[in-house]
Amino acid sequence: MTDRGLVVVGDTFFAGDPSARASWRLAVLMGANARTYKFALGDALLDLAGQGREEVTLAELAVPYAMGMVRHLTDAPQAPVNVALGNADFLAVARREAAESLAGGRPTEKLSKAAQRSMPTMVMEKFHNLRGVPGVPHRFYELKRDGHHRTVVLTPELRRIAMSEQGVLLRGELNARWSIVESSFAAGVGRGVVQAGMSVDLAQEFLIDKRRRRPVTRVSAALIGFQHGRCLICNELIVPVGEAVVDHVFPYAMMRRFESVGNWHGPDLDALWNLAPAHRPCNSAKTDTPPGRKLLTRLALRNEAIMRSPEPLRQTLRLSLGRALGDGSANSWNQIFNEIKAL
Ligand SMILES: [Zn+2]
Repeated sequence: MTDRGLVVVGDTFFAGDPSARASWRLAVLMGANARTYKFALGDALLDLAGQGREEVTLAELAVPYAMGMVRHLTDAPQAPVNVALGNADFLAVARREAAESLAGGRPTEKLSKAAQRSMPTMVMEKFHNLRGVPGVPHRFYELKRDGHHRTVVLTPELRRIAMSEQGVLLRGELNARWSIVESSFAAGVGRGVVQAGMSVDLAQEFLIDKRRRRPVTRVSAALIGFQHGRCLICNELIVPVGEAVVDHVFPYAMMRRFESVGNWHGPDLDALWNLAPAHRPCNSAKTDTPPGRKLLTRLALRNEAIMRSPEPLRQTLRLSLGRALGDGSANSWNQIFNEIKAL
């Protein structure tokens, strides 16, 4: 960590694992999303840094960036649907050039130019900021300008996280976040998934857009970044990603037991707030044991981090707990957990 000090948004999150990975997650998972440019940039950066690149031209970076955008915009909106796009808007250009770029496997000349023109101010200047506040404690690139020639220096921190065992995990969670934000755009601001939250298909371990009944992303990919890529049960890193299973922190057997006699007064245990990616062996060993204090502290911090991220995951948590949730801080989660334990 640098001497820039901790950011206000997500400070507890960063303190929980002060590392370049946590800075990256602050930028990707917790920043505001007026559009999805940040995800396309983040994915392109992990891609190039993962190949060991130290410096790329803006034109080179624009290739995976623009291709990511066109791939995504053929499936889902990349800005809220009620946002009007001007003709020169990068998204409007991307829409016009999408078919030809996808067919050719690389951005058309027009798309590449539009990307290079818009990237510096639309996304690169903002990536390290958090809701307008600079910024996350680590820098992942610097944009250099030499006349018309622009290069992007990829920092050692970026290369380290991209080439680490968790690099794949970071790309997975970035893409999960991208899908979640897209589904919030699909219905327009303030409606659909933003208001209704998401449900969980436990059999498939998928998050579901309730209103459109569409699978959005895997539960573990959506949640794992908020717990620093760690198994919530043992607190060790989960590598590789495929190893993660979804654990019920409060065992659902608890709810079923009470429910059979119509006596369960606690919140739904099959909901997102109670689900956590974990190692398979850790999950198997835990069986139906009630969670201990350390595990519940980690769950409180994980849920607090989600509550500080933009909609709609935050809303999904809020809907399961209602007024009992209070301000969504780790303290309010601990209070809820104590009440459940006393049931
Ligand atoms: Zn574990």
